[in-house]
Amino acid sequence: ENVNLASITEALVSSFQKAYNRSIELNIQDRPVVRTDQQMFRQLFYILMDNARKYSEDVITVNIKTFSDGAVIEIADRGIGIPADDLEKIFDRFYRVDKARTRKKTGGFGLGLSLAKEIGEAMDADIQIESVESEGTTARIIFPGTTSY
Ligand code: ATP
Repeated sequence: ENVNLASITEALVSSFQKAYNRSIELNIQDRPVVRTDQQMFRQLFYILMDNARKYSEDVITVNIKTFSDGAVIEIADRGIGIPADDLEKIFDRFYRVDKARTRKKTGGFGLGLSLAKEIGEAMDADIQIESVESEGTTARIIFPGTTSY
């Protein structure tokens, strides 16, 4: 199915904003259309937004752009970040970075990112997470080989 990532993301961002009363900056550089599964994209986007919300308090930035060979959706927060030693393990099932570091009770099971990884594989998208402890985290959903409108 052809999915207009920008249109879906606009709608998701606006309902997320209302539901959680958080400020979200959406930058749409391009409006790529990709052949993928819309439901899977929604679920994946939600998992990554939910993490950005849980582990930060400041504005969340969402960028949509294309590059030479594909499309990318970026979700960036300025939150607590992930220590370098933990980064390679966050996609493991039930893995959580020491929960004492969050003031709020986030109450997760450490399942979100392992699910994100599986959804990514099922829809031929790459999930990348870049993070600096105490500065913030950027999650990327990358669709290779996409044409932009
Ligand atoms: P669940 O998704 O099951 O509700 P969770 O958020 O703990 O719980 P994951 O989404 O798998 O589980 O994330 C694993 C761990 O990675 C988290 O416990 C958290 O420590 C860290 N993490 C994930 N996203 C971020 C982020 N945006 N900023 C800081 N830490 C993060």
